[in-house]
Amino acid sequence: MTKYQPFMQALLWTCKSCGFVYEGGQPKQNCPSCEAYKSSFIDFPQHLEAKVRESYPDVHFNHKFCRTMRLALMAEHNVAAKSRVSGRVLPSVSGEHMNPSDTF
Ligand SMILES: [Zn+2]
Repeated sequence: MTKYQPFMQALLWTCKSCGFVYEGGQPKQNCPSCEAYKSSFIDFPQHLEAKVRESYPDVHFNHKFCRTMRLALMAEHNVAAKSRVSGRVLPSVSGEHMNPSDTF
């Protein structure tokens, strides 16, 4: 698996409830993993995501290990309080877009 490169990535929409993340575009209506409403999604900081992926380079970034670590980092850095989704529309970048429905 290639090393995570923050500058290459789109926004990291991350579920505050379960740590599920998907890259780019807009939050889905509901979390594909735990079905939390889209207001539960935050834009997870790239430097924290890099820690997650460097810690678990051999599993998918939505593996349970990664999601658990994201939730821990959110708590540790108080991320959820700082970066709420505020309805902004941001462009996605080209690259590896995932389809959440294919992940679980
Ligand atoms: Zn979720």
